[in-house]
Amino acid sequence: MEKNITILSFGAGQDSTAILYKLVLDKTFREQYVTGELIVLMSDTGNEHPGTYLHVQFIRTFCEYHKIEFYLITSSQGYHPKNWDSLQHNFKTHSTVMSVAFPKTCTDNLKIKPLYNFLDHYIAKLYYGYNQTKRPKGKRYIKHYCKQFGKINVLLGIAAGEESRIAIKLKSGQQYQIDLFGNLIASKTTWMDHCLQKLYPLVDLQMDRSACQTYIRTTGLPLPPPSNCMMCPFLSKQEILWLYRNYPEVFYEWQDYEKAKLHKFSNANISSNLGVKGRLTLSEFLDQAISEFGHMTDEQLDDYKMSHGHCVKSTY
Ligand code: SF4
Repeated sequence: MEKNITILSFGAGQDSTAILYKLVLDKTFREQYVTGELIVLMSDTGNEHPGTYLHVQFIRTFCEYHKIEFYLITSSQGYHPKNWDSLQHNFKTHSTVMSVAFPKTCTDNLKIKPLYNFLDHYIAKLYYGYNQTKRPKGKRYIKHYCKQFGKINVLLGIAAGEESRIAIKLKSGQQYQIDLFGNLIASKTTWMDHCLQKLYPLVDLQMDRSACQTYIRTTGLPLPPPSNCMMCPFLSKQEILWLYRNYPEVFYEWQDYEKAKLHKFSNANISSNLGVKGRLTLSEFLDQAISEFGHMTDEQLDDYKMSHGHCVKSTY
């Protein structure tokens, strides 16, 4: 049995798609980044764009054809944390919304935790004879595996120009991340530091978002839209306008979650009762978007949407 594995953390956007295509089409690149079996893992936030889900269908077939294991981790499989079946499930359960003003817990709960919960179960079943359908607790099997066979390579689709999303480790062993304002924040060393070898092929190759798009076009394979949640607080004005024009029902649903959140905390001090965009409500933000960008045609907004926005505020 193949003992080495390499994980591609797949978001179904342009960056990780460029990596996957390159792994299949460029032997030298694959030899450089893949040790042993390649496994492509994507955690479903339940709030992806329809275009992203369509792309996932293609990728499933693409991987099958190239004999690559691909898993879409959906909440029904039991790897998502409690009350995080999807972004909107979390909003409903807690009468809350994600906000640009709050600590961002969504990436960890919807993307990172499910992926490694799945991986621990996968390793437990494949290498250690674990035969229960319920996932084991903790990261016991990843740790065993790492002790026995060494660190697991994890390829991450962070593009050149987004280096601030990479967690930094100094010589002292202290782990740091850079916050939204460019400040270094110390973070604790975790099992991830001991067990995972995180690799950033696009940074190594100096491929930014536009280079990924160009590369994908040269392959003749489908170019997906950037992947981010439909109700991501970091959407720009143009993206909110795009959402409103193309999926008004999603915009209104999102607005309802925000209203419920603001209502729930209506007795709180105004400075702490914030919505998706901080003090501006979604409706006020949309008004600004319409006034500044309402002149853009649907086609212009589509072009903008195609080249902007993914889970850019996340650090890995
Ligand atoms: S895309 Fe936005 S809402 Fe979705 S997980 Fe990332 S930061 Fe959170």
